[in-house]
Amino acid sequence: MSRLPQISPVALGPILLISLLVLLVFRYTSTPGPAIVTSWALKNNFTAPEPASVPGEPTPLPEPLSGTFLQRADLDVISADGLFSPEDQVRLAADLERALNYVSRRFGSSSTGRINTYVGVAAGCGLHGIAYTDQRLVQAFTCTDLPRSRVVNIMAHEFVHQLAHDRYGPQHLQADMILLEGVATWGAGEYWLDGQPNFAMFLRPYKQNNQLLPLATSYVGRSINDMNLLYYQWASFVDFLITVYGRETFDALYITGSHAPGSADYVGLYGKGLAELEQEWLNWLDQ
Ligand SMILES: [Zn+2]
Repeated sequence: MSRLPQISPVALGPILLISLLVLLVFRYTSTPGPAIVTSWALKNNFTAPEPASVPGEPTPLPEPLSGTFLQRADLDVISADGLFSPEDQVRLAADLERALNYVSRRFGSSSTGRINTYVGVAAGCGLHGIAYTDQRLVQAFTCTDLPRSRVVNIMAHEFVHQLAHDRYGPQHLQADMILLEGVATWGAGEYWLDGQPNFAMFLRPYKQNNQLLPLATSYVGRSINDMNLLYYQWASFVDFLITVYGRETFDALYITGSHAPGSADYVGLYGKGLAELEQEWLNWLDQ
């Protein structure tokens, strides 16, 4: 273990991507979860709001990397002092490496370089994450009251943002919000599924209760519950596009957007618009 020097936020340069702060409302376990996710699963346990990435507004600077440093195969893991015991810092680094390996397999491609992975202290215990993919820097914030697994869940999502940047290049930064956050959530897989086998199963109760939102809904200004539900819906929609229409077409679609939800060229790639694809997805959810 060694100490990293304080790095000025200014020195880290401009930020090209912020991913949403995402709060998991459940704790990932390796044992199967309940067969049905009840409607309150996305509504409880939030302790802080999530900042949205708003076009035209400045992105928060990364927190300076200060704390204990551990090196893994593709990761440099830094955790803020006071969060974990020395033993848990080692476990955290191993957990994060396992998460990166898992999401790389699921996403279908690996990181093209080392990833600076910072776990910091969340003010007010508001679990959240952020990815600065142009800098190969991902950050997640937690507190001593939360189990280690919660921040690993968040980081799994942030890792996929980095893998997407590595796969798609800088155009990733302008991706349709549906695809940008959908692919990161889908790629995080079991770290977000709370024991459910897939995102379609996770969403079925919400569909049955008529709680789903239109896919082309921006999270900006929405409640935390809506933002989380949108993430799950977008993950399932990504799953649908890849499963039904193939990865190659999805990859071509991903780089056509301009950030706004629904801005990708669905007609150009699938010969049908988002509304038609959304209806197909809703039917597919029941299969
Ligand atoms: Zn994200």
